[in-house]
Amino acid sequence: EDRAPGPAGKPLVFRVDDSTPEVVQSVLLERGWDKFEQGGQDVEDWNLYWRASSVRMAKHANIKPWQRLNHPPGTTRLTRKDHLARHLRHMKTTYGAALDEFVPLTFVMPNDYSKFVAEYFRQKPGAGGARSCWICKPAEACGRGILLFRDIKDLFDDAYVVQKYIRNPLLVGRYKCNLRIYACVTGFQPLTIYIYQGGSARFATEKVDLGNLRNSHAHLTNSSISKCGASYVKVREVVGHGCKWTLGRFFSSLRSWDVDDLLLRQKINVVILTVLAIAPSLPVAANCFELFGFDILVDNLKPWLLEVNFSPALSIDCSADASVKRKLIHDTIELTYLCGLRNERAEPRDGAKGRRSVSLAKLHAGGLSKPGSVRSSESLLQRTSRTLKDESAVKKALKIGPENKHASQPREMASGQKGLLLSTKEPPGPNAPPVHVAQSVVRGQDRRLPVRPLAQQQVPGLQAGNFVLIFPFYEATFGASRNGLNVRSIIQELRKLMKS
Ligand code: ADP
Repeated sequence: EDRAPGPAGKPLVFRVDDSTPEVVQSVLLERGWDKFEQGGQDVEDWNLYWRASSVRMAKHANIKPWQRLNHPPGTTRLTRKDHLARHLRHMKTTYGAALDEFVPLTFVMPNDYSKFVAEYFRQKPGAGGARSCWICKPAEACGRGILLFRDIKDLFDDAYVVQKYIRNPLLVGRYKCNLRIYACVTGFQPLTIYIYQGGSARFATEKVDLGNLRNSHAHLTNSSISKCGASYVKVREVVGHGCKWTLGRFFSSLRSWDVDDLLLRQKINVVILTVLAIAPSLPVAANCFELFGFDILVDNLKPWLLEVNFSPALSIDCSADASVKRKLIHDTIELTYLCGLRNERAEPRDGAKGRRSVSLAKLHAGGLSKPGSVRSSESLLQRTSRTLKDESAVKKALKIGPENKHASQPREMASGQKGLLLSTKEPPGPNAPPVHVAQSVVRGQDRRLPVRPLAQQQVPGLQAGNFVLIFPFYEATFGASRNGLNVRSIIQELRKLMKS
């Protein structure tokens, strides 16, 4: 519970609008937060504004030090299919081949029309004259307006992307499935990414049949489509009821079928590359975070990124949703709000290192080595924690030793937090004393000080609930993400990581 002690003992305040998912509100109430009432309290008296739609720049410009927004500006560069395709293409052109190989060949229409036509005719028809299969998707489809086609005559005339159709994805009981992987970016400057160890596998409700491209219940795995199919209520081979499994059930099934899920999970690091494609182009914005939903199709244990979702669906439609989504919101609040704000507060550094070591020890000894956890993140984490717990390595990465004055120092001194820069303070656990942040800021009379973005100038926590830090990893990426974003050097480190 985040309820504050202290003289006033006021709870934190959240703001919502009509678009905010019900589960967000109910989790925040469960954690002891109060709901902001328009007219009932000071207009600035809120700590978190969570909405499904994007936030106007004016809101970002006027954000107060004690407030958080759940959308930074500009993240539709990742979540609109056409923008994502362009950014990934740009990254590939700038930093070299093999970087976008986790995305099916994509053409953004109408600009890429002639390139698509050339590719279409370059691919020779197979036996029987059948051409390759393509999928045409509006930039923001959400399952609507999607078309599969083999004949170029069927292409429609609008803004959309055309993608090579992955025809032989991993099937479960002959049903197509894809994975919903959640990732939370708690800061773009410096870039800090967490991956969620929960998530879901989503199934089509009819068996795959490449002879019938019109059957959306066989070819599309969006749950909004599956729920409307006649077969949704039937018990299906292997999959069973409904159209979703938890990711844990999916991975343990892979293991029981002797499929090497380690390889697959390692490749989920595509999340880092994808976020890197847009991070340098985003405007600076303080005090925001974004929870993304990555949709990944698996083909011969290779992950294909289909799209990244803005405000991923948080409705609870089945038992898999119930076990994943409530905890996801709890952990998101824990990660982005409590950890971030507590790390920002001027707290004495004494003893912090000791607490951090306990946390790292727990990480090594505990959950991350359990079956069902993300082993790719585990190895990444182990290496990252080795680096980040070594304060001298972090100093080196930040280039802020006492002899080397860093540009951010005046801000540190202004807020009276000299020394916090290298804090290795552990993110608070469930028993940490609760804090009323707005109140603490006012009490310290630093309400008008510049905002320190989440995770800036400090070692990010390695884990919060089921969120695991995947970026920065190693000393080199820590440095490359702090002093401006050095994408080239980060990509080099990623290449090394993928080879290791
Ligand atoms: P949206 O969720 O906005 O409708 P997606 O890109 O996720 O758009 O596509 C919807 C569904 O179509 C996916 O869940 C997947 O089942 C299927 N799909 C999308 N792109 C491909 C592709 N390139 N190959 C195979 N199936 C695809």
